[in-house]
Amino acid sequence: MIKIEKLSKVFTDKEKSISAVDEITLDIEQGEIFGVIGYSGAGKSTFIRLLNRLEEPTTGKVMINNQEITRLNMKELRKSRRDIGMIFQHFNLLWSRTVAENIAFPLEIANVPKAEIKQRVQELINLVGLSGRENAYPSQLSGGQKQRVGIARALANRPKVLLCDEATSALDPETTNAILDLLMDINQRLGLTIIMITHEMHVIRKVCNRVAVMEDGKVVEQGDVLHLFLQPKQPVTKKFVQQVMGIEDEETDFERLFQANPTAKIARLHFVGETTNQTLISKLAKLFAVDINILQGKITQTQLGAYGTLYVQFIGETGEMEKAIAFIKNETSVEVEVLQHEL
Ligand code: ADP
Ligand code: MG
Repeated sequence: MIKIEKLSKVFTDKEKSISAVDEITLDIEQGEIFGVIGYSGAGKSTFIRLLNRLEEPTTGKVMINNQEITRLNMKELRKSRRDIGMIFQHFNLLWSRTVAENIAFPLEIANVPKAEIKQRVQELINLVGLSGRENAYPSQLSGGQKQRVGIARALANRPKVLLCDEATSALDPETTNAILDLLMDINQRLGLTIIMITHEMHVIRKVCNRVAVMEDGKVVEQGDVLHLFLQPKQPVTKKFVQQVMGIEDEETDFERLFQANPTAKIARLHFVGETTNQTLISKLAKLFAVDINILQGKITQTQLGAYGTLYVQFIGETGEMEKAIAFIKNETSVEVEVLQHEL
């Protein structure tokens, strides 16, 4: 769908030159939500602006739907840009226009007949959940509503790709979630390919299939989101994983619990993309004559299943506890390790 080959952008002024984007090569598939994460200054905005040539590449190639964007003349580019929608952190709305007029704007530019515009705008307003707010001005809207206008406007010409540059970074966590839900819904319903730029790992975790990590203009690591959680290689990737998981706690000393109940078993459960046994704890309690005490842990959800670690204490007859542990080993993808203690 999108092929990016050795794409670079060098900014030069009198004193120095900056490699904002440095030989990025990526393949993005039709219909996926692809994340690009990096700290401020990593080159994310420059990168995404190269894709629709809001910024001209210094070298490299961008192909979208078998069309070489980087070779189009201005007239061809204007036409192709209708296939590429974009939304921004600060919404970039026209303040003197109403919601409906903002959404109509790209359709007017594309010379769509008036009656058709009216109908399309109403469809889009319904799609993004802004019914009743057609005649409001941007200044009368909340941040989340403004971004909904931004999304509707970006979708007006039925693009095949949506570029999102920190689209939720100006929003509070609850509104962020609502906007991410909307984007996932649109991705599913319209089969739209989405590229999501962010500095927040929880955004990636929630919506992305795959992710590329950027640092100093380069992609330093990429892969499935779950895989990156499991095995982050670069220090910068590890820091992003910690944004969601917290810094790995020192294993708590469970000695007091061992002493209080020497026949109980304490186990470490490591979830590595479990999807079918997310109700594992209640399932174990139902299937076996054991009580389960949750001691410590953190689990998060990615598009490919649950990830994280949980410490639990099993209380019951030895045979039942062993059956429960064997069940986890044999019937789930959860890794289980029974902690030993010295007495
Ligand atoms: P991010 O979006 O990841 O924060 P940017 O793409 O905005 O990063 O910036 C990457 C680097 O390129 C930064 O060092 C920034 O100062 C520089 N840069 C971005 N735009 C320009 C420009 N128009 N002229 C000169 N330098 C720029
Ligand atoms: Mg940026």
